[in-house]
Amino acid sequence: MHNEDGISLRDIRIGACTSLLSVCQDGYFLSKTPVPGFDNSEVLARINECQPLTSIDGSFKSEILNTVFNIGLNKTDDRPLWIVPNSIRHRRYDLLKKRGKQLMALELEPPGSALHRQFASLIKKDARDILKFANKYGLLKRHPVHNLVFRNRNTGQQLQLGESLLWWKEEIRVLAKCLQLWDMVLGGDKELKNTVLWHRDGITIRLGNSDVPFISRANMNLLDRWSNGDAKGPALYYLSLEADRRLLNALTPKLLPSQNSEIYLFPDNLLATIWLMFLLEISGRTRFIQCHSCGEYFDARDPRARFCSTRCRMRNYRKRRTRKSKGRKKVKEDERV
Ligand SMILES: [Zn+2]
Repeated sequence: MHNEDGISLRDIRIGACTSLLSVCQDGYFLSKTPVPGFDNSEVLARINECQPLTSIDGSFKSEILNTVFNIGLNKTDDRPLWIVPNSIRHRRYDLLKKRGKQLMALELEPPGSALHRQFASLIKKDARDILKFANKYGLLKRHPVHNLVFRNRNTGQQLQLGESLLWWKEEIRVLAKCLQLWDMVLGGDKELKNTVLWHRDGITIRLGNSDVPFISRANMNLLDRWSNGDAKGPALYYLSLEADRRLLNALTPKLLPSQNSEIYLFPDNLLATIWLMFLLEISGRTRFIQCHSCGEYFDARDPRARFCSTRCRMRNYRKRRTRKSKGRKKVKEDERV
């Protein structure tokens, strides 16, 4: 289908990026500086040399400033920490499921398939669990400056730049709130009416204890899209904008001649992969629910599905059977008395 705005994406497949995702082979650790043993001004100078962080007019534009130096973030940690690679050895990894030689679109290998849910669940965990996630999947974004090698003058050890833990926490919080809102939309939650607030001057989204002005006087014309008081429409629009922000300039289309010349979209970094998974969910292409046995999120295409695997279904069945037979035994003992 063609329209004035562009061509349909119907024939374009989505591949979770593979060649671009990498993880440090020797894992990560929490450091007190972006590069262990180097102070911030030294690191800033080295980065600036390789990639200028300020525009000609003197304004800061670079993303590196908030992802690495916490500039522009809500500072809550008094002693900020960084997730830093243990060595400069990185290996590429693949989240895509392969059937034979065929790459399958959208079919991620579990637990990668619930990557966004896993990432958001870190909101209830501490720094150690965040580090565990990094050890498995790597840094959220690897800017070209992450390839810079810093050599420790005393030990000769080769080191590379990390990412701010504070920034990770902010990203986790944003996604967790988006998923909370999405779950409300999905579940037809009555609470949604108290989250998407219509007022005279527009719409405000209230998540947790923060109010985000969403539609204001400046873009009031957007209100015509929905009937007054509708919560679902504005909520979905809000979520799509949050995803857009993370996917901007982060998806690369590639023609894969080996895959029937299909066009695949590849996210350029881990954060974009996570948000792409989120986008697939809110577009209705995937449906993640918690397994009734192990509690992990899984993609349940069948609306009746309750378990992530046959193993979990059997485990649940055995548990119920034991409970039943114990109950029966108890009755017999009671009868004897
Ligand atoms: Zn399970």
